[in-house]
Amino acid sequence: DFHEDPNELSDIRHVIAVVSGKGGVGKSLVTGLLSVAMARKGKHVGIMDADITGPSIPKMFGTTGEVRGTSAGAYPVTTAGGIDIVSMNLLLENSTDPVVWRGPVISGVVKQFWHDFIWQDVDYMFVDMPPGTGDVPLTVMQTIRLDGIVIVTSPQELVSMIVEKAVKMAEAMKVPILGLVENMSYFECPDCGKRHEIYGKSHVEEVAAQYGLDVLGRIPIKPELAAQCDAGQIETVEGNYLSEAAAKILELDK
Ligand code: ADP
Ligand code: MG
Repeated sequence: DFHEDPNELSDIRHVIAVVSGKGGVGKSLVTGLLSVAMARKGKHVGIMDADITGPSIPKMFGTTGEVRGTSAGAYPVTTAGGIDIVSMNLLLENSTDPVVWRGPVISGVVKQFWHDFIWQDVDYMFVDMPPGTGDVPLTVMQTIRLDGIVIVTSPQELVSMIVEKAVKMAEAMKVPILGLVENMSYFECPDCGKRHEIYGKSHVEEVAAQYGLDVLGRIPIKPELAAQCDAGQIETVEGNYLSEAAAKILELDK
């Protein structure tokens, strides 16, 4: 087994990576909602924001605290709802500065998030991966022994291609796929109450069946949801969009 142990003071029970094909499909939103759903089920959740060049987790949680460090290691920043976060965003002095480093340096940062941070008593860690199947996702999968991955798709994409790539990568790295989450799946009309599939008919069920995967959840397009995330209020979002997905993930405890 080539995987690397975390910091010797860390205590992490399960790690799940959230992946997508391209950016902007709502991978970070799904990571955030899944984390909130797990926390609502009483679990202590950690989020590793491995999207080093596009970190968006702290903003979504309204977290601005500074990372504290000792000679033994650094500590994640805890959100109002008790979720522990590590993100490049919390390490930059000016969080609007772009990260312009090259791939190997970025991969090194992700390894530091694993080795140099002390993740205390984490039941479930979610890793918000950068989009695609490049260097950093590979580094994460090589470094961290993952319990599984969740694939985020949207109806605007060629879902079969994204799923195929993710399945191939997961097979090569021997990581189980826990299932698919379709984001921006439909729009619930506030007037007529009906679900409109405004990007056309969803293919997620078909594609999932084709690969023998589960659909863990479907999230509607909801401007209020985006507004709440922009305002750092994801922990107070009403409705449990990914409660079923969280229930499925909880089976890892058995
Ligand atoms: P990614 O991490 O895949 O790049 P994000 O999670 O940051 O994508 O989402 C991209 C943008 O779209 C964000 O501004 C987010 O608030 C918005 N968004 C994502 N999902 C939804 C949704 N279901 N309804 C409304 N807005 C959404
Ligand atoms: Mg993101």
